[in-house]
Amino acid sequence: MTVIQRQRPRRFIAGAVCPKCAEMDRLVMFSNEAGEEVRECVSCGYTQTTSEQAVEDEQNNLATELATRVTPLDGKALLDEEEQPLRIIGLTPDA
Ligand SMILES: [Zn+2]
Repeated sequence: MTVIQRQRPRRFIAGAVCPKCAEMDRLVMFSNEAGEEVRECVSCGYTQTTSEQAVEDEQNNLATELATRVTPLDGKALLDEEEQPLRIIGLTPDA
């Protein structure tokens, strides 16, 4: 029986932190059968392809974008409070 050994070059990503187990310098990068780059954690077995990473990055970007959009809404809420004194002045019987 012949054992087919496919030696894929794996290189450690210096300073990379595993998003699952938070271990540093445990992530290796290699190419899978589909030609995609895969990150694998040698500590906990976590794997992520570059396409999965791209989706995650996009979600993170969207989350950041939404967070920045909340700020102007807060400013609008302040404007609503300023309208209240105007209404009170209008209701003042002195007029
Ligand atoms: Zn890990």
